[in-house]
Amino acid sequence: MVIDRATILEVSPRDGLQNEQTQLSTAGKVALVHRAVAMGARRVEVSSFVNPARVPQLADADAVFAGLRREPGVSYAALAMNDRGVERAVAAGADEVNIVVVATDTFCRRNQGVDTSEAARNAVRLVDTARRAGLFTTITIAAAFGCPFEGDVSEARLEHVLAKIAGAHADEVALADTIGCAVPGQVSARVRLARDVLGDDVTHRLHLHDTRNTATANSIAGLEAGVEVLDASLGGTGGCPFAPAATGNVATEDLVYMLDRMGVRTGIDLTSALESARWLLANLGSSRASALVKAGPFPQPGSDDWCMPQAG
Ligand code: ZN
Repeated sequence: MVIDRATILEVSPRDGLQNEQTQLSTAGKVALVHRAVAMGARRVEVSSFVNPARVPQLADADAVFAGLRREPGVSYAALAMNDRGVERAVAAGADEVNIVVVATDTFCRRNQGVDTSEAARNAVRLVDTARRAGLFTTITIAAAFGCPFEGDVSEARLEHVLAKIAGAHADEVALADTIGCAVPGQVSARVRLARDVLGDDVTHRLHLHDTRNTATANSIAGLEAGVEVLDASLGGTGGCPFAPAATGNVATEDLVYMLDRMGVRTGIDLTSALESARWLLANLGSSRASALVKAGPFPQPGSDDWCMPQAG
């Protein structure tokens, strides 16, 4: 199958920031969303309407939404886990809401205080509420490949969770490699499984952390298996509060570089993405660097002048 396009959903304002020590100000978060739109992202996850006591980094979600300069054709997304979160997302004017169900009971209880079955039942209700308010709806199955507490997540377990959320008829379902343990063969198989269980009226999306350097390979495997949307985070920012060594999502600039060179159009300008990745990392005081932040694009701009003195 020849893949010629993919949608990148920029998640740095939400997933990228929720685990960072240094925080952007509200104005800084608004600026980050504006940068994401300016580089060409047409879907941006702006923030998370979860309990501010649990995720203090995103306690200003309402203020960030209020500060946005909305651009036509851009969908501004928010994450929510309960009725209050969906209400806040609707009130803030979010265009889409992303509802999380964790695939393992242990992680689900730690993350949202209920087991997977109850989270799935809640998700069915929350999708209905959000849809009635006119929002585009996504259910993300977190830890769809592996769990920091229970280890490997079997395909049978994932199939069980997919079946539980099927009745929600969300517009989109995302499989999340929350801790960054998946490999390409698994991604292909589980995307096919999701398509088998849910069909293709739903949009299929992947959320891939890059902890073990597999996220770009996993992205390709996902696209080849039929995924249309990939989450990515400028600078590779982010992590997982329950897996201390987990790194952020696949870096937007690394993903765009690879897809550009493969002829897969994303609508995102690499130069602009790289500039914003550097801006974000500098503002977070982060020593993290994506491959593109370290190496720059290829061919190098002005590469005629760029030559190692010793190079033959
Ligand atoms: Zn994540």
